[in-house]
Amino acid sequence: MIAITNIAELVVVPPGPIGGRAMGHVSTIEGATLLIDDDGCIGRFGAASSVDVPKSAEVIDAGGGCMLPGLVDCHTHTVFAGTREDEFVKRLEGKTYAQIAEEGGGIKATVEAVRKASVEELIELALPRLQRMLSYGVTTVEIKSGYGLTSADELKMLAVVKRLGELTPVELVASYLAAHTIPHEFAGRADAYLDEVLAPEVLQRIRDENLAEFADVFCERTAFDLTQARRYLETCKSAGLTPRVHADQITQMGASRLAAEVGASSADHLETIDDASVNALREAGTVAVLLPACSLYLGVEQAPARRLLEADLPVAVATDFNPGSCMIESLPLTMAVACTQMGMTPTEVVVAATANAAAVLGRQDRVGAIAEGKQADLVILDMPSHTRWFYAFGRECVAAVIKGGRIVHRCDGH
Ligand SMILES: [Zn+2]
Repeated sequence: MIAITNIAELVVVPPGPIGGRAMGHVSTIEGATLLIDDDGCIGRFGAASSVDVPKSAEVIDAGGGCMLPGLVDCHTHTVFAGTREDEFVKRLEGKTYAQIAEEGGGIKATVEAVRKASVEELIELALPRLQRMLSYGVTTVEIKSGYGLTSADELKMLAVVKRLGELTPVELVASYLAAHTIPHEFAGRADAYLDEVLAPEVLQRIRDENLAEFADVFCERTAFDLTQARRYLETCKSAGLTPRVHADQITQMGASRLAAEVGASSADHLETIDDASVNALREAGTVAVLLPACSLYLGVEQAPARRLLEADLPVAVATDFNPGSCMIESLPLTMAVACTQMGMTPTEVVVAATANAAAVLGRQDRVGAIAEGKQADLVILDMPSHTRWFYAFGRECVAAVIKGGRIVHRCDGH
C-alpha cells in the first residue's frame, strides 16, 4: 500500500461525463491523505485526520502540493514525420492555406513524410513527445492515424500507436482517421478512396489485431461531405469502432448533428456550432471536445465554450497536437488557453481534461476521476492549488506523475 500525505488540495473530480453546469462545482479537500491499494487503485482518502496510514505503507510526501487526476488528452495527432516550420512562417507572412497547399505544403507534406517513414522511425519520433506529455501530467493520450491515406500506411500508423503503448507508461488509445483528407491520387474521387480504406479486409485487420477503438472523420467543405462522413462512420461502427467527428471547424454544414445521429462519443472543434447542433449533441449525450490551442495557434476565433457549458453539454478540452495547425503538445498550456481565451474557469478545465476527456475515450469507469476503486492515475503539483496552476500558467510545476499506482515521472529537484 502507498499513502500520499501532505496534499495541500485534493481535487475530487467525480467520474464523467459531467454536464457543463456542474463542471465548475467540484469538491476539494485541504490537507488531504490518499491511499493506493496494492492493485494500483485509489483506496480511502480524505482530510489527514480522518485517514489512518498503515505502518506498512510506503509514504509519498506531496510536499504541500495540489493533487488531481492524471490528465487525459483525448484528441491528438502525435504520430507524424517531418515538420512544417516553413509553412508556419509563410502563414505569418500572409499566405493562405490554399496557396501553401499549391506549393506542396500543408497536410500533403506530412503525408509524404509519413509514407516514407518506417514503423521504427515513427516510433522514434513519437516517443519523446509522449515522454514530454507525461512530464506535463498527462497519463492517457488518444492518437489518430490520418497521415498515411492508403490502407497500408494507415494500418502502419495504427501499428505504431500499438507498439508505442508498450514502450511508454502513458496509456494510448488509437483512432482510425483514414478519412482525414482526400489524398491527391484520389482528387475528386472521395468515394473511391473510401472504398479502399473501408475495405472489409482492412477493417477486419483493425479488429483482429486490436489496432483502434475509434473511427474519426474530418467533415468539412475541403474534405468529406456529410454523406461520405456518414458512410465512413457507419461502416467503421459496424466493424466495432466508436465514431467521432472533426466537426464545425470552418464551415457549418451539420457535422455535429451527424455526430449525434451516428452515436459518436464526441464532436470535436465546434468553432462554428449552431443552436440546433448544441441541442442535438445534448440529446445524444455526445461530448463536445474543444481545441483552444489550435485556434490560438492559427490566430482564429475560439469555439463558444460558455454557450456550450450553459447549455449543460459535457465539455472536454484537448490539445489537437499536430504538425500543421497546432504544434502545442502541452495539455496544461491548452487548459490555460481555455481559461484566458474561452472564459472557462480552472475547475471547469480540470474536469474537461480529466473526467470528460475520459468519457470521450470510454474510460470513465477507470480513469479521469478521484474515487475509491478508480485506477490511481494522479498528478502532484508543486503548486498549492489548481487555480494557482492556471493563474501562473506556462511555468512547469508538475512534481510527480503516478500511473496505476506507480510513480512514472518525477520532476528533477523533487
Ligand atoms: Zn484533429
